[in-house]
Amino acid sequence: MIVHILLGPPGSGKGTQAKRLVDNFSLVHLSTGDILRDAVSKGTEIGLRAKAIMAAGKLVDDDTVNGLVFARLQDETRNVLFDGYPRTLQQAEALGTFLSLQGIELGLVIDIDVPEEALENRVVKRRVCSNNACGAIYHLERKPSKIDGVCDACGSPLKHRADDTAEAFQSRMKEFYATFKPLQAFYHGGPSYRLVNGSGMPDDVFATVVKIFEERA
Ligand code: AMP
Repeated sequence: MIVHILLGPPGSGKGTQAKRLVDNFSLVHLSTGDILRDAVSKGTEIGLRAKAIMAAGKLVDDDTVNGLVFARLQDETRNVLFDGYPRTLQQAEALGTFLSLQGIELGLVIDIDVPEEALENRVVKRRVCSNNACGAIYHLERKPSKIDGVCDACGSPLKHRADDTAEAFQSRMKEFYATFKPLQAFYHGGPSYRLVNGSGMPDDVFATVVKIFEERA
C-alpha cells in the first residue's frame, strides 16, 4: 500500500485534481474535509464538535483528525491519495510515525502552488454538488455547470459551502499560512516532494501531475 499527499492552500484545486487522479490511477480518495462534512451532516459526536470550527474556517484539532484518518487507513488495502491532510506539522509527524509502524510507503507529496490573489475568487465562486457520493466541483466563471445550480454529472442541486464565503476564506488563509510553512518544510527536500504550479487551467495542472505520477511508477 502506498499513500500519496496533495498539499496546497484552499482553492488551489486539490479537490479537483484529487478526483481526477483517483480515477486515473485507481486510488482511494481520502479528503479529511469530506470526512468531516459527512460527520457534520450525520450529526455524529465529532460532527457536532467540528461544525462551528469548520464554519469559522478554523482547523479541527489534530488528535481528532489523526484518529479519523488512521481508522480509515487501517481498513484500507488500496493505494490512497490524501486531500487536505496532513494540514499541520503535528499531523505530518503523526502520519509519518503511523506509516512506519504499519510498514506503509509514502509515495508522492504534491504541493500545488497558487498565488494568494487568485485563491479568494476561486473559493467564493466555487459551487459543489450536494450529493456527497458525486462531489463534483464547479466555478461560476472558470467551470460553470451547464444548467445554473444543477450538477452536470448527477443532476443534484449545487451548493455554496458554508466556509466558502469571503469572511471564512480570510480566516482559512490565516490558518493556512500559520500552519503550512512548517508542514512544507517537513516534506521539502525529501524524495517524495514535488512543487507544481497550480495557476493554470485544471487540465494543464492535471497533465503535469499525471506526468509526475507516471515518472514515479
Ligand atoms: P477542506 O475541504 O479541505 O477545505 O476542509 C474544510 C474544513 O475542514 C477546513 O477548513 C477545516 O475546518 C476542516 N479540516 C479539513 N481537513 C483538516 C485537517 N487535516 N486538519 C484540521 N481540520 C481540517
